[in-house]
Amino acid sequence: MPQSAEKVLDHAPLFREPEYREMLAKKKALFENMPADDVVQKTADWTKSWEYREKNFAREALTVNPAKACQPLGAVFVAAGFEKTMSFVHGSQGCVAYYRSHLSRHFKEPCSAVSSSMTEDAAVFGGLNNMIDGLANTYALYDPKMIAVSTTCMAEVIGDDLQSFIQNAKNKGSVPQDFDVPFAHTPAFVGSHVTGYDNMLKGILEHFWKGQECNPGTSINIVPGFDGFAVGNNRELKRMLDLMGVDYTILSDVADQFDTPSDGEYRMYDGGTTIDAAKAALNAKATLSMQEYCSIKSLEYAASLGQETASFHYPMGIAGTDEFLMKVSEISGKEVPEELTKERGRLIDAMADSQAYLHGKTYAIFGDPDFVYAMARFILETGGEPKHCLATNGNKAWEAQMAELFASSPYGAGCKAWGGKDLWHLRSLMATEPVDLMIGSSYAKYLERDLDTPLIRLSFPIFDRHHHHRFPVWGYQGGLRVLVTLLDKIFDKLDSETIEAGVTDYSYDLTR
Ligand code: SF4
Repeated sequence: MPQSAEKVLDHAPLFREPEYREMLAKKKALFENMPADDVVQKTADWTKSWEYREKNFAREALTVNPAKACQPLGAVFVAAGFEKTMSFVHGSQGCVAYYRSHLSRHFKEPCSAVSSSMTEDAAVFGGLNNMIDGLANTYALYDPKMIAVSTTCMAEVIGDDLQSFIQNAKNKGSVPQDFDVPFAHTPAFVGSHVTGYDNMLKGILEHFWKGQECNPGTSINIVPGFDGFAVGNNRELKRMLDLMGVDYTILSDVADQFDTPSDGEYRMYDGGTTIDAAKAALNAKATLSMQEYCSIKSLEYAASLGQETASFHYPMGIAGTDEFLMKVSEISGKEVPEELTKERGRLIDAMADSQAYLHGKTYAIFGDPDFVYAMARFILETGGEPKHCLATNGNKAWEAQMAELFASSPYGAGCKAWGGKDLWHLRSLMATEPVDLMIGSSYAKYLERDLDTPLIRLSFPIFDRHHHHRFPVWGYQGGLRVLVTLLDKIFDKLDSETIEAGVTDYSYDLTR
């Protein structure tokens, strides 16, 4: 084999060595039982036709490559935003390995979460013993201040009752009676990670707020929602609120937990909303959510206690940020400071500078409902056309909101939102009605190759590029970053299309 200790090859060049090529060719010939190449090509071409699109959109009982994850992932994410909190997922171990690896691969940080490791016996007799042992082990081994319990499919299918299980475990001495163990049932076969985020957040708020006396004050609670760019976004959010002089509490702040420094000390926990702040948040004047679909039940709960509530769609770009800042100003009575107003002007200036390259570009966008709304809104602001907008976890209400957004701009004509559809549907849409660019997560890199449509990675998860999440996309400053990301891709594409010497390079310009 060509690998040697003197010259270690990375897997990309290694698998191009003759020995590996031969081995892979033999594997294909002897074991894969593939149809002939021309048959494969013919079928692949047919799957890009209108005829296939109609069949694809007629399917009901099958999902192919959904752009969403299951509820407990959102529960683990939101719990990570509280001080010294360990996520405890009641159910099967493999599921929890998936949440940890998903978050670690995206944030390039270790992600801690434990499982009650239910197996066949627990599936038959119930998982109470797993809960009793699991909580005791978690408390003894990981020194948490709080353990946030959620569930996988398995625990939900057999109907394990978290409230009674946790109380039973406390009675058995797994954790002290007064130790904080909020919980949420997060059945993975309904909703998505955004539903799980909402359920777990509500579980934590209820744990601290239920039965307590409420004395409304002046501060504002902010719920960031499930967000792959949370590290950069939460810091930008705090910078904007600090500039405004607003008294606020971020309810679940994962910025430090998913961005620990390398300084010789391993931090299992870092930062997050303190337990005291979470308790005190009951007395806020208002709770605002940066993402409507991540917080429907949590906001209902806050409203039931007398707090003002409002939600946004991932405030990004001009109108999205305006809306958020004006609401904060209205509730707090604080003016939007000159510095933020200037940032707004700078973003508009940058958009105007690049207008010639942005205008009329067509896009396919996929991701969570609030992200897709925000991204489409920003694209419309740039004079682009968000033709295909898809959220697997979007519903009819979201589709109606999107239709209203499209109707608000001349560039929205011919744009359509697809709720409940997956990335295989998106492939049909893009194959039959091509667009210039695609915006979404790393999962679309195969669509990029298949349909030759450049992918701009701006949503969760981003596995194959590094560190994007450290920079904000919210606010005017974040909008500037999104704008640069779009433009870089547009210019890279233009360069690649004009690079042939003597043929197309009359447009391979040095200055643009
Ligand atoms: S869908 Fe169910 S089985 Fe799959 S990872 Fe989520 S909880 Fe586990």
